[in-house]
Amino acid sequence: MISIDQLVGKDDSALIAVDKQFLHRDIVDDWSALQAAASSVEFDLAAVSAYRSFERQLVIWNEKVEGQRPLLDANGELLDVAQLDDRSIVFAILRWSALPGGSRHHWGTDIDVYDRAAVPSDFNVQLIDDEVERGGVFAPLHDWLDDQIDKQQANGFYRPYQGVIDGGVAPERWHLSHQVTAEHFSRLLNAETLYNVLKKEKDMRLRDTVLENFDEIFARYIAY
Ligand SMILES: [Zn+2]
Repeated sequence: MISIDQLVGKDDSALIAVDKQFLHRDIVDDWSALQAAASSVEFDLAAVSAYRSFERQLVIWNEKVEGQRPLLDANGELLDVAQLDDRSIVFAILRWSALPGGSRHHWGTDIDVYDRAAVPSDFNVQLIDDEVERGGVFAPLHDWLDDQIDKQQANGFYRPYQGVIDGGVAPERWHLSHQVTAEHFSRLLNAETLYNVLKKEKDMRLRDTVLENFDEIFARYIAY
């Protein structure tokens, strides 16, 4: 049974540390197998980011609201927080960052990946389209991953952000998910549950704006 705390990144008891990241214990073997398959064709499949706690996502959220982290529009252009109303800030953040409690990274089943063999060891992976699209440094890895997923030889991993609805989450080619394990979580996640979690988060900036627009936010950015 998955608890609400596990669902929203407040309970890390099902996680195992692998290569400086935390993964759900049920995906560790499949992740290793996918890495081994990648290695056989000269890719070094590695995780940039796997599990992320609620607390961590809340810090990111609050820093974006406060203007301490860059806030970008849909085209990646810098926005000035001081010029935006609260609702606009919330929706600008959601274009690129998950709502605390609403991230697939809270589950330990989802991993942002790159090819460690394609770049120098001090390379700063940014997780941007330029890295993963045609001509990008990690494009060959992702072409290979597409092929493995198509042939159902990706050890249970897939891309959950394909066919993204207009105005929702940006496509993220770097993001893989372990489908069977993640489905246990996604089935449990609904608007009422998450609303009730956030209602108690007194330290969350613009929480009231989020709650006032919650059905729209949930439909566009979480239940896609
Ligand atoms: Zn991701």
